[in-house]
Amino acid sequence: MKYVIIGSGVAGLAACEAIRSVDKVGEVTMLGDDPHGYYSRPGLAYYLTGEMDERGLFPRSKDDWSSLHIRYLNRKVTRIHPVEHQLELEDASRLEYGRLLIAVGAQAACLDVPGADQEGVVKLDHMEDARQILKLARRGRTAVVAGGGITALELVEGLRARGVNVHYLLRGERYWSNVLDQHESKIIEHRLQKEGVKLHHQAGLVEVLGKRGRVQAVRLLDGRTLRCDILAYAIGIRPRLDLAQEAGLAVERGVLADEYLHTSDPDIFAAGDVAQVYDPLSRRSVIDSLWGPAREQGTVAGLNMAGQKTAYLKKAPFNVTRLAGLTTTIIGAVGRGGDKDLVGIARGDSETWRALPDATVAQKGFEVNRLRLLVGEKTLLGAIVMGDQKLSFPLEKIIAGNADITAIRERLLQPGAPIADIIAEYWTAWRAQHAS
Ligand SMILES: Cc1cc2nc3c(=O)[nH]c(=O)nc-3n(C[C@H](O)[C@H](O)[C@H](O)COP(=O)(O)OP(=O)(O)OC[C@H]3O[C@@H](n4cnc5c(N)ncnc54)[C@H](O)[C@@H]3O)c2cc1C
Repeated sequence: MKYVIIGSGVAGLAACEAIRSVDKVGEVTMLGDDPHGYYSRPGLAYYLTGEMDERGLFPRSKDDWSSLHIRYLNRKVTRIHPVEHQLELEDASRLEYGRLLIAVGAQAACLDVPGADQEGVVKLDHMEDARQILKLARRGRTAVVAGGGITALELVEGLRARGVNVHYLLRGERYWSNVLDQHESKIIEHRLQKEGVKLHHQAGLVEVLGKRGRVQAVRLLDGRTLRCDILAYAIGIRPRLDLAQEAGLAVERGVLADEYLHTSDPDIFAAGDVAQVYDPLSRRSVIDSLWGPAREQGTVAGLNMAGQKTAYLKKAPFNVTRLAGLTTTIIGAVGRGGDKDLVGIARGDSETWRALPDATVAQKGFEVNRLRLLVGEKTLLGAIVMGDQKLSFPLEKIIAGNADITAIRERLLQPGAPIADIIAEYWTAWRAQHAS
């Protein structure tokens, strides 16, 4: 069997490992167009702040790679020919496949305002972007950051850590309004202000002004201009759909894949940020941009490419991240609606987080340590844990395991209830029951 994987990210790597775990002799080829190959993309945020050096972004050694016995080609795939079972590469050469995985990820949505093509306008998609930001930060004094979600704050934090003055533009009234609630947005905004970040609400960016092709200022909807040397944006991501679309595969917001990660072509699979994967439990097809699900989908796709029939059962998506320096865990469904700062989802984000059905909120803490639970009829639908992380692991298990919380539901919803203690007590009993 000839297996070909397009994409050298975590989904592609996990697929190679899964194929090899089943098929020791088949020919496996991985193609990737990033000159740096496989590295930790979430780690780029820590690289920007200086907490991680470049070496730390590469968790795999040469020996790890050679033990996989795969062929790696640093090349871009320009077309899939499904009938011929062939790929076309950028140099017009062709490569045959028996089973193919599309794991090409997503890219930053473009900033569509006049002047956005000038030097000094940056995004954070990959290693070269991060290097460029660091280069600009060495001589730049002032930056404007526009956008939302985790990546916008990673840009703010990275630039602040490099001594750059930062203006952060929000189109709406508060940060990440369809995932965080008002208190949580305010906690983050206060922390940013304390770090010296200048926040501008209802500040739509309409034009990038420059001189000799270099950014010098931005103009806002209300006519104000802000001088800057760097404009960094993070307004959401777009799965890379071109290859799949041109090959005639079914696509919606992502490349459609069933629970076996099959696309509409029986010999082509999709996994990771590019895939919109069917979840048999919720009967919905959703996109995540999360490292864990990308790895799990890659594994399931690889096993199925090698002839197994393994279903990908979606867990409650969760992310442990840092927002303005505050460790924050987001699990399951926590919000709904749109956010003026984002088109679709961002990096480290999930469509499921905004799919909150009717739920009652139990919350505790309005300062640094905050816990918000989304309480359904019989189960917890989601949770946000800010600051103290003692409960993030138990909550992830309780939510992912659809644990029946009927016995504690009323207590949780009492005004002023000690919800953290109730969950801790419930977790001890639940864990003991599930261990036996
Ligand atoms: C700055 C940043 C912060 C993040 N923060 C978090 C976080 O806090 N938590 C979290 O869980 N996730 C986070 N993520 C998201 C996480 O990194 C992704 O979900 C994960 O990397 C997706 O893996 P993937 O393999 O699907 O795609 P990718 O990692 O995007 O890999 C796809 C690869 O395919 C290559 N490719 C694309 N087109 C072609 C082509 N035509 N030919 C050949 N190769 C091609 C690309 O160059 C790329 O190397 C973050 C990502 C970034 C960039």
